[in-house]
Amino acid sequence: MVEKTMQDKQKDLSNIPSVDELLKGPNGEKWLGVYQRSVVVRAIREVLDIKRKDILSGSNTGLSIDAISHDIEKKIGELSAYKLRPLINATGVVIHTNLGRAILSDKAIQNMIHTAGSYTNLEYDIPGGKRGKRYAHIKDILRELTGAEDALVVNNNAAAVLVCLNTLAKDREAVVSRGELVEIGGSFRIPEVMKSSGVILKEVGATNKAHLSDYRNALSGSTALLLKVHQSNYKMIGFTEEVSLKELVKLGREFRLPVMADLGSGCMIDLEKYGIHGEPTVQSVVREGVDLVTFSGDKLLGGPQAVIIAGKEKLIQKIQKNPFLRAVRVDKLTLASLEATLMLYLDEEKAVSEIPTLRMLTQSKAVIKKRAQKISASLKKDISGKASIGIIEDQSRAGGGSLPETDFPTFAVSIKPSQISVNELEKRLRLGNAPVIARIKEDALLIDARTVQDKEIMALVDCIKAALSHGSSQIDTEPE
Ligand SMILES: *Cc1c(COP(=O)(O)O)cnc(C)c1O
Repeated sequence: MVEKTMQDKQKDLSNIPSVDELLKGPNGEKWLGVYQRSVVVRAIREVLDIKRKDILSGSNTGLSIDAISHDIEKKIGELSAYKLRPLINATGVVIHTNLGRAILSDKAIQNMIHTAGSYTNLEYDIPGGKRGKRYAHIKDILRELTGAEDALVVNNNAAAVLVCLNTLAKDREAVVSRGELVEIGGSFRIPEVMKSSGVILKEVGATNKAHLSDYRNALSGSTALLLKVHQSNYKMIGFTEEVSLKELVKLGREFRLPVMADLGSGCMIDLEKYGIHGEPTVQSVVREGVDLVTFSGDKLLGGPQAVIIAGKEKLIQKIQKNPFLRAVRVDKLTLASLEATLMLYLDEEKAVSEIPTLRMLTQSKAVIKKRAQKISASLKKDISGKASIGIIEDQSRAGGGSLPETDFPTFAVSIKPSQISVNELEKRLRLGNAPVIARIKEDALLIDARTVQDKEIMALVDCIKAALSHGSSQIDTEPE
C-alpha cells in the first residue's frame, strides 16, 4: 500500500464530520431518542478522536458516514452498559472467587428484591416500637443450625478474623501453628491480618508439624487466644502432623483461654453422604467446643458475600461492642439473602436442590452428562465444518479454598475449531456480549457442563455459534 501524502491526510481530516453534524443527522436524532445526551456526545468524540489518529498514523480506517456511525453505535453500547455484568461460567470451578463466588437461590433473590425497594426493620424492634439490632434477624436461625450459643454476621471472613482478634487479643498474643499461616488469595494472609488487628502473632511448630507441646510451651502471661486456621486451598501431605481442634479446646480450657477456628468455607450439611469427603461441618466444629468459629457466606454455604461468626454468647456480645464492627457491617440486602439461604437449610433436601452451589457440587454424573449432551446436540445443528464437537470426561473443582484435593468427575463439551485457533475462540467467547468463560485443554475448548445453568444453555449455544462464525478470516491478530 502506498503511504498517503500529507495532503491526502489533510483532506481526510477535513472530511470528518463534526460532533454537531453527527448529532443533528438522522442517526444522531435516533441515538438521542434512546440514550442520554452526555453518553452520545462522549461516544462521538471518542470515535472521531480515533479516526483522526488513524488518519495521521496512515492506518486504513473506515471514513464513510456509515462506518463512523457504526463505530459510534458500538461505543454508545459500551459506554451505556453496566461494567459489572453476568457471565456464563463454563470453567467447572463452582466457587470461583474471580467470578463472584456463589450464585444465589431463587428464594434468596426474591427476598433481596422484596426488601430492596422498601423500608425494613433492619434496626427496628417492631414489637417494642424502638431501635433494634441489625444482627438480631439471623441470630435464632444460626443458633438452631449451628448449635452455637450466639452468632453475628459481618462483611467477609477477612473482616471477621480482624474484628475477632482485635476484640479478644489486642496487644496480646494469639498462638497459631506455622502450618496454618496461609494466604487465601487476593492478599488475605493470616500473619498480615493478625498484625493489622493489633495482635501479636505467636507462631508454633514447624511448617509440616505441630505438637500439642509446642502450643503448651508457647503459653505465657500475655497469651490471649488459641487460633486454628483451616488450611483451605492447600493440603500438606507426607510427614505431617497437626493438633486437632479437640486437643486445642482442651488446652484452652485448662488455661482458661478462648479457642477460635477460622473455618473459611464452612459447610453446614454433611457432604459425606454425597461422596464428598474432607470438609468439616460447622456443627461438628461447634460441638467440639470452640469458643468462636468464622465461615464465609458465599463459599460452601452458597449465600451472599458475608461471614458468620458463631460461638459463645459472652464473646459474641463483646465483639458487638467493638467499634470496628461498624466498619464491617452488612447491609439489608445481604441480610435478606442470607436469611432466605439459611431458611433453606432447615430442610436439607431443599438446601441441596435449591442452593445452586450445593446443587452443582452434588449433582449426579448422569445429570451433568445430559446437560453436556444437550449443549453438544444444539451446537452440532448448524456449525457445519466450523468445529468438531465432542463430549469428554473431565474434573471440575469446588474452588473457593474448599476441598482442594477433591476431584469432581464431570462431563465437558469439547470444541475444536477448524477455521480459527482455539485461543481465538476462547477470546471471542470471553469478549462477546454475554461473556463465556471457559478453559482450554490441549487443542480443545472445554465447556464444563457442571457450572452451566440450565437456563443459560440457549444463550451459551448462541454465543459459541457466533464466535465460530464471525470474521472468520482473521486469525489471532493479537500479538502473543
Ligand atoms: C476464604 C477464607 C478466608 C477469607 O474469607 P473471605 O470471605 O474471602 O473474606 C479466610 N480464612 C479462610 C480459612 C478461608 O478459607
